[in-house]
Amino acid sequence: MKPYERLLLANQAWAQEKLKVDPDFFAKQVETQAPTFLWLGCADSRVPAEEITGTEPGELFVHRNIANMVVHTDFNMLSVLQYGIEVLKVEHVILCGHYNCGGIKNAMTHSDLGLINKWLRHIKDVYRLHKDHIDSIADKQARWDRLVELNVTEQVQNLAKTSIVQRAWHREKRPVLHGWVYDLRTGLLKELAMMPPGSKIDDIYTFQWDEA
Ligand SMILES: [Zn+2]
Repeated sequence: MKPYERLLLANQAWAQEKLKVDPDFFAKQVETQAPTFLWLGCADSRVPAEEITGTEPGELFVHRNIANMVVHTDFNMLSVLQYGIEVLKVEHVILCGHYNCGGIKNAMTHSDLGLINKWLRHIKDVYRLHKDHIDSIADKQARWDRLVELNVTEQVQNLAKTSIVQRAWHREKRPVLHGWVYDLRTGLLKELAMMPPGSKIDDIYTFQWDEA
């Protein structure tokens, strides 16, 4: 059997299993989606959003990229964010990083990796912001872990800086922004940051809305 054929076979078994538990499972899926959560995670194959959170199809609206970045010129991520918040009306946005992230590791080096240099540049910016703190950590793994964590909190801040989030906070008092980190070594998620609607951010990033 070719490697990809295993996936197609497993898919058939999965679909049958779902029908065994609930004969209407797929019929219900067809109608619409109403996920409560928007998940912004790393593209890393070891961090499958649904599996580690025990969620089913229909529960998570998902966007993943290298090192779970919120880059304000990334129309892909911004489109997912806008659709998730304004159309699907998610209550929670979960920004999830993970320890041993290759994107973070490479951003801490001086390697020229081609096109991805431009993506990793945004992680280097986070490093620069916290350089003294990170450089004061003696252990290499601990330094890497710390930048993973600082990047999560920075990207949650970046979410809060978007007009998409601020408009929803102003008009509908949602969503709550969460910053989590997944530990590949234990399989556990840890909460690092939470920003409820209306949270304070640096003044220069705050938009003003005309309506009362
Ligand atoms: Zn990663």
